Amino acid sequence: MAPQDSLLFADEGDQKEAPSAHQPWKILIVDDERDVHESTLLAIGRECICNRKLQFLHAYNAAEARDILNREQDIAVILLDVVMESDDAGLRLVHHIREELRLHDTRIVLRTGQPGYAPELDTISRYEINDYKSKSELTRIKLFTTLTAAIRAYAQIRALNLSRRGLETIIKASKELLYLRGYGEFASGVITQLAGLLHLPEEGLVCVKQGDQDLTDRGELKVIAAAGSYSQFVLKPLNTIHANEVVELVFEAARTRQNLFLEDATCLYFGTQDGSEMLVYLASGTYTREEDRQLLELFSTNISACIDNVRLLEQRHEYAYQDQLLGIPNRLSFLQAIDTRLLQQTPDQMIVLIDIDQFGALNDTIGSQNGDRLLKQIAVRLQQHFRQQLVARISGDTFAILGESYLLKPEAISAVFEQAFSIANNLHMLSATQGRVMLEQQEKATDVIAQANVALKRAKQTLRGGYQDYHQSMFKETESRVQLLQGLRQAFDHKRLFMVYQPKIDLSTSQITGLESLMRWRSDEGIFVAPMDFIPVAETSGLIVPLGEWALRVSLVRIGQLRRDSGLDLNVSVNVSMVQFAHPSFLDMLDDALAFAEAEPDWLELEITESFAMHDQATVQQLIENIHQRGIRISIDDFGTGFSSLSYLENLKVHSLKIDKSFVDRIGTPDADTRIPETVLSLGKALDLTVVAEGIETAEQYEWLKQHGCHLGQGYYFAKPLTDKDVKHWLQEYAANHHYRASNA
Ligand code: C2E
Ligand code: MG
Ligand code: MG
Repeated sequence: MAPQDSLLFADEGDQKEAPSAHQPWKILIVDDERDVHESTLLAIGRECICNRKLQFLHAYNAAEARDILNREQDIAVILLDVVMESDDAGLRLVHHIREELRLHDTRIVLRTGQPGYAPELDTISRYEINDYKSKSELTRIKLFTTLTAAIRAYAQIRALNLSRRGLETIIKASKELLYLRGYGEFASGVITQLAGLLHLPEEGLVCVKQGDQDLTDRGELKVIAAAGSYSQFVLKPLNTIHANEVVELVFEAARTRQNLFLEDATCLYFGTQDGSEMLVYLASGTYTREEDRQLLELFSTNISACIDNVRLLEQRHEYAYQDQLLGIPNRLSFLQAIDTRLLQQTPDQMIVLIDIDQFGALNDTIGSQNGDRLLKQIAVRLQQHFRQQLVARISGDTFAILGESYLLKPEAISAVFEQAFSIANNLHMLSATQGRVMLEQQEKATDVIAQANVALKRAKQTLRGGYQDYHQSMFKETESRVQLLQGLRQAFDHKRLFMVYQPKIDLSTSQITGLESLMRWRSDEGIFVAPMDFIPVAETSGLIVPLGEWALRVSLVRIGQLRRDSGLDLNVSVNVSMVQFAHPSFLDMLDDALAFAEAEPDWLELEITESFAMHDQATVQQLIENIHQRGIRISIDDFGTGFSSLSYLENLKVHSLKIDKSFVDRIGTPDADTRIPETVLSLGKALDLTVVAEGIETAEQYEWLKQHGCHLGQGYYFAKPLTDKDVKHWLQEYAANHHYRASNA
């Protein structure tokens, strides 16, 4: 070894950073000459490369090398002698490593004592041999540089593969983006994903350009999501950012439809099929490496596809928040707006409910189509009069306005109805009654609406076409919920609640697999109160906890009987509200109920709504794990209506997804939009979950779902929820019919 080599290394050694606590790099030496092993160790055995120590593995022939390769993972570099037991033993080992073991990351450096045995060039490229050195060339310093280069390359490949895997996760999770609510959430997701992928701080912004938008008006491009120091610009026009270079870069990318990479910034362009485009600006630009760029390009292509999904979601959002007939905000949207104003403590806000007098009677006379036209005209007029306020329809003929009280004077609203409305060449004079209430702090939107409703009712009793402001003294009347709750308590105490059971059918075999139990309340007057009305009251009051326990016990006892009577392997799905689920003694309650009913855990499935995804993830995950360990299945009810991320779902031990009825409804209609059921089905497949469709009412829906691989179905098409008495009978009949059909087939 040349003395200057040692000197050089001694000097450099002082500058080297302290070795990190990382795992050492594994170097495999394959050589039949012992002293090659020893001299290699002596030369560089104690060195650190890229901050990590070296760990040497030794093989003295190809067979030993194979053993080691089978045993050890993450070998960074192999220093390989070409000529060992045979002239080509080394090259054969290379073949084995690359072709059979498929180890492509590991770097291979060939060493040979005889220059004449150098492999052909095509062998070198075919087997990805990374370096070729004659043994005499391997002085200490050369060995060090050779190994450093090889280890660097290995580390890069490793990192790249890791990112690729990261990317795969993204692609896989792209379906998750379907559940993000609109562009805003989606865009934040993109920043997070990119930052994670490239190990960058979350610092950047996202703009969206709609298909028909002209970029010459730069004020039009809006920031829809941002992170880090750009957060303040969310929902503001891009050009409010004073840093000109940011704005320029984004526009340049939009104009050229390309990803742009600068030294200190990056702008990615995402185009979609429907013409909308998304631009992501990242305040980092260290992607000088080709691999990173490729990764980003790939990411862009894949994410573009997701943007289309987001549009679909926006439509879904519109469905949920827009009155489909009138094209104005609906009740839900109105409630949200109230909550926002309350939260922001916007001063001097009030809501007015506007009920059209005698609308029902008029509707009957002019026909419902004309009635609809009339409602549209009213909506248009209200919007014209109250441009700055929020106008919504909150039920049939009741509109609502939210805004500053001084602009919502009763006369201002009456003025809307001063002119006649023209329907089918007939003029109609209308009047409207108003219920009015000021927003006070510490209230909830639903309470505010309830108060306005009380005022409205009062106004209608006293004078139509007039108005009534809400007063605290009317408080008692807002308590219809309290009455409902009292009624429910009594009904529970007096055993006037009961469970009904709706069969679940295996769509491919037509077998009954189980029943969903649903609660019913018949009031003293014999009127049925819908669960949609009383369950929420039970939830907010906490009554759902004892009520739910009762429902579970009853259902378990019943399923035991039905199993015995029918001889069928049936399970029962019991709905569990989040309030119950989150109750500290939920698991004990489950165990007690199973013991009480002498039921097996696998007879039971719990249906929880997708809203659980809003709760603390760790707790929910643990709880679900505990339930899963008991052998009880969990199904996610009303799937598709809430928000849950795919990655979250993936980690939960849930057993099935229930496609919400609202999506099933759309199947089999002329302009059927089946994208959501399709997505849920493919999601179910990807996560290996059973997919159940609820609310199947028609043969078309049944056929479609069956053909698209939906496992189970339930709905009026098969059976309505059945009372205790009817269910046994129904099961017998179904079995008989089914048998009849089967033997006829
Ligand atoms: P869910 O769990 O999604 O139940 C499905 C609802 O769809 C039931 O309404 C069922 O009667 C109805 N349904 C089933 N097939 C069809 C169909 O083909 N057409 C139509 N139009 N409807 C169909 P239901 O019984 O009124 O229950 C409403 C909701 O109330 C349930 O939705 C569930 O969230 C809740 N609920 C019912 N019973 C219980 C209970 O015991 N505990 C809790 N926590 N919630 C319950
Ligand atoms: Mg259910
Ligand atoms: Mg449901």
